[in-house]
Amino acid sequence: MAVRPNSPAAKDIAYVLHPYTNARRHEETGPMIIGRGEGVHVYDDQGKEYIEGLAGLWSVAVGFGEQRLVDAAAKQMQQLPYYHSFAHKSHEPSILLAEKLLEIAPRDFSKVFFTNSGSEANDTVIKLLWFYNNAKGRPEKKKFISRIKAYHGITLASASLTGLPANQKGFDLPLDRFVHTACPHHYRFAWEGESEEEFASRLAGQLEDLILREGPETIAAFIGEPVMGAGGVIVPPRTYWEKVQKVLRKYDILLVADEVINGFGRTGNLWACQTYDIKPDVLVTSKQLTSSYMPLAAIMITDEIYQGVADYTKELGTFGHGYTTSAHPVATAVGLENIKIIEERKLIEHAAAVAPRFQEGLRRFADHPLVGEVRGVGLIAAVELVSDKKSKAGFEPVGSVGLHLFERCQEHGLILRNLGDAIAFCPPLIISEQEIDQLLERFGQALDDTLQWVQ
Ligand code: PLP
Repeated sequence: MAVRPNSPAAKDIAYVLHPYTNARRHEETGPMIIGRGEGVHVYDDQGKEYIEGLAGLWSVAVGFGEQRLVDAAAKQMQQLPYYHSFAHKSHEPSILLAEKLLEIAPRDFSKVFFTNSGSEANDTVIKLLWFYNNAKGRPEKKKFISRIKAYHGITLASASLTGLPANQKGFDLPLDRFVHTACPHHYRFAWEGESEEEFASRLAGQLEDLILREGPETIAAFIGEPVMGAGGVIVPPRTYWEKVQKVLRKYDILLVADEVINGFGRTGNLWACQTYDIKPDVLVTSKQLTSSYMPLAAIMITDEIYQGVADYTKELGTFGHGYTTSAHPVATAVGLENIKIIEERKLIEHAAAVAPRFQEGLRRFADHPLVGEVRGVGLIAAVELVSDKKSKAGFEPVGSVGLHLFERCQEHGLILRNLGDAIAFCPPLIISEQEIDQLLERFGQALDDTLQWVQ
């Protein structure tokens, strides 16, 4: 559709550089402008309705247009719109949210540090653990291990943890001190006939080899998303986390669970660490923490880490790290109300209850000629497209068919996300069974349209 001169779309092209967008393509296509949202739906500026099948960016747990979050923000805006948390200052919403997070955490953590985004949170974790290891008198223990296809953010350090070419190519990343181990995607990387358990053992062995090559005394931590999100929704093979944790314990390497997508019910439990029996030393959460109505992320640390850090702040005089808007009062007030809604409406239980309809419904597409794998857990999933089911060969150029399907989905009133040729699903936790059926129907129509285009 041609972009009208002087329209918001024309001004967007003229003035805005978009994240994660091909700028030249954007000059031709212009933006899709979303005007409002309600429940699991958003509406564009022409009034067209879409099911938001990715909850924005894996974010909007309670759905769009939740008046209670609007009221919580407005109330806090009136009372104290801003204050900081440097140099012993504090305010009630951030205190109460820290208390709440420690109460519902999957293990006994001791302290919470707030940032504005997941990237800032992971950056903070890196600095925090460097600081901690300096405090403990082991300045050489600084490297981080993450995984190929991991997504941990886009700041210099968090993008170095991320294991996706698009976040590193062109940016002179990763920095040193960041090493990557194998991606636990059984469908793509297991050997012929290798069971999930055997694959998990092989990956744990590769991790151990990497640790020994680098020197265990140089490695601070391993960071992982329990279920990988932006790398393609990769569900860990059976026994993977058990085996990885065993290796990490053996070499005194801390475990950071990045639950920025997984947290708050995505995998059927409040935390994915519960789903996969993971006992992290640090846990990072964001996105569904406020349903992304306000920017906020939280880092929870064990008492052991806290004690080391606290002693060192005494020695140095401060913890020289923090953001102007760390623990923002409006964001933390919204986070508190969001968790209250999740608890009162039993949204974690709801998500777990409707998950089988969603997962089984998606698995019905496994026989479709374009589909290589359907994977997922709880209310997160991906459908991976292939040109040949037997050889699992993808398409050239990579992502072209995924993009086509993504666009056909939008025509049919469904917003998803194409990660190369895998299509990701992550609907709001409030989604009803009827809305799941509609989502599946719209996806099926778009998939058939795409098949016609490919043939
Ligand atoms: N960690 C994970 C697992 C994520 O999925 C993301 C974002 O998608 C981030 C970190 C980075 O968060 P943000 O985009 O808020 O910086």
